[in-house]
Amino acid sequence: MNSKARYLLRFDDLCPTMSRAGWERFHTLIRQYKLKPILAIVPANQDPDLMIDPPDQKFWNEMRELEAIGACIGLHGLTHLNDQRGRSLIPLHRETEFAGAMEPAQQKKIAQGIHLLKEQGLTSRIWVAPRHGFDRNTLRALQSAGLNLLSDGLAERPFLKGGVVWIPQQIWEPVSKQSGLWTICIHANTSTAAQFAELGDFIRTHHEQFTSVEDALVEFTPSPLNIVEAVATWVRLTRIRISKWRKRRRRH
Ligand SMILES: [Zn+2]
Repeated sequence: MNSKARYLLRFDDLCPTMSRAGWERFHTLIRQYKLKPILAIVPANQDPDLMIDPPDQKFWNEMRELEAIGACIGLHGLTHLNDQRGRSLIPLHRETEFAGAMEPAQQKKIAQGIHLLKEQGLTSRIWVAPRHGFDRNTLRALQSAGLNLLSDGLAERPFLKGGVVWIPQQIWEPVSKQSGLWTICIHANTSTAAQFAELGDFIRTHHEQFTSVEDALVEFTPSPLNIVEAVATWVRLTRIRISKWRKRRRRH
């Protein structure tokens, strides 16, 4: 079992005003290879960076169709505005939509997001925090909303922490791995033609290893990380933080 790595795709920042052309090429790829990605949708976007094209009339229908053929609907915050300051459990950004906010406020936003997606006929199945920004209050708010699954963390397999199952998300481009479950996070709005081509090539050669959230949860039984896994996870997170810090320094 698990002799070969499994891959999951996650598309972030989906909303009616995203880049139509940016999304269309990935949508075609999903259809062509019958992929079952996580579709991380912003229910009530207010982020100007995600207002690229006029609202797409086909958007919600496309999301419903993809859910019907196995995609997993992700709740990607509510507005995608970074109006909170607080330390996240995955501390990659100082300002985010959720980390640092009081639990009742987070609860309200999560319930509102679930409601808005439900109005569009979609079932919020997994939490995808904008900018990895979430804290203990978020974990409690998710549980009270009945959402016990999230996509984040740097382990090599799904695990249990804080009463929630975490499907790890570790890479932002395809990387060949020997074992484990690897979620590749894609931002269709900003992906370059070269990045799209690279992902396409990888899917062509590895498409049998692409899985869905449902299948991954059957193949990898989520349990708490052991000490060795927890340390490896911390090392991976620290490496990412250092490389982000270096990039920031180069820019200044
Ligand atoms: Zn986002």
